Amino acid sequence: MNAGLAPWACHPAASRGRRIAEPPSPPRSEHQRDRDRIVHSTAFRRLVYKTQVFVNHEGDLFRTRLTHSLEVAQLGRSVARMLALNEDLVEAIALAHDLGHTPFGHAGQDALHDCMRAHGGFEHNLQSLRVVDALEARYPDFDGLNLTFETREGILKHCSRRNAERLVRAEPGGPAQRFLDGGEPSLEAQLVNLADEMAYNTHDIDDGVRSGLVTLAAFDEVPLFARLHADVRSAHPQLAGRRLLFEVMRRMLSAMVADLVATTAAAIAAAGPADADAVRRAPPLVRFSGGLRAELDALKRFLFARLYRHPQVMHTTGIARQAVVELFSAYRAAPHEMPEDYAAAPDLERAVADYIAGMTDRFALREHQRLTGRDIFAA
Ligand code: MG
Repeated sequence: MNAGLAPWACHPAASRGRRIAEPPSPPRSEHQRDRDRIVHSTAFRRLVYKTQVFVNHEGDLFRTRLTHSLEVAQLGRSVARMLALNEDLVEAIALAHDLGHTPFGHAGQDALHDCMRAHGGFEHNLQSLRVVDALEARYPDFDGLNLTFETREGILKHCSRRNAERLVRAEPGGPAQRFLDGGEPSLEAQLVNLADEMAYNTHDIDDGVRSGLVTLAAFDEVPLFARLHADVRSAHPQLAGRRLLFEVMRRMLSAMVADLVATTAAAIAAAGPADADAVRRAPPLVRFSGGLRAELDALKRFLFARLYRHPQVMHTTGIARQAVVELFSAYRAAPHEMPEDYAAAPDLERAVADYIAGMTDRFALREHQRLTGRDIFAA
């Protein structure tokens, strides 16, 4: 059944299973089944109108969380196949990794965390797990999607100690246990983490240039970009504009994938883990070479300073933050403005956070206008 998977991959037959046992669904593996449940979830469909960097109404061509998640799944699966890891598990984790993100990208999340500071805070990784464990309401016998341990482990990428203690009290040995005991997640989870980084580093260059906020020439300050840009110019001297940019990005993705596969294969060979559990006790094995890691860190610093911190992006995200804060106060003061399930929940602040976190950018703006009477992006 597991022909083709490396011994250190997560083998579906060795899954730690679901919180509520279910009969198998052949011929699908348990991880394929997780992937299918994620694709059919409500939270997944909403990713199409959630922002990555730009607010959704700014343009139709920028990445949203849905297209970002598809790119992460594509990169993750390619690498998983080269390393004989579990492609279906990688795909499931990749498609679910951003389900807990609020509207308006990081601005929305920071604002919601501020609102929730006295009520347990808000972490998007934890929220992604909360979506698949509790908030999706579509099965007769359980809340959430009842996913396997391995998919849930991959979704919970970060977790504060306080939240990990709370999760472990409810589920000893669950995906939060490693944040108390130390240890790494599976290779598939580690891989999605870096596929996420490969995807956003590349697509934020594309979106940055497309937005007109950063010029293609400015990216030559980044050594990795400059090197590949020079290669493309010498191979295709006539190339210009978007095709030039696409070719540089294509080479950047190829360079990252090749480096990741070679470095990781060597790290696995050196560590020699017997199985997936030995991987969890080893240091991180999925990684870039030291040289490429340094180049990617330089690219991230550039994107942070020149794109994420660009005055126009800061202006928009400042307004988005304000919208989330005002929405939070409005629902808290008038819970009946939320659907009955949320209005009647025992923990009002958590219910407000769950409701807002589930919104798309445009629904959040419509609700903001309905509740405050103001169009926050007008003027
Ligand atoms: Mg992501």
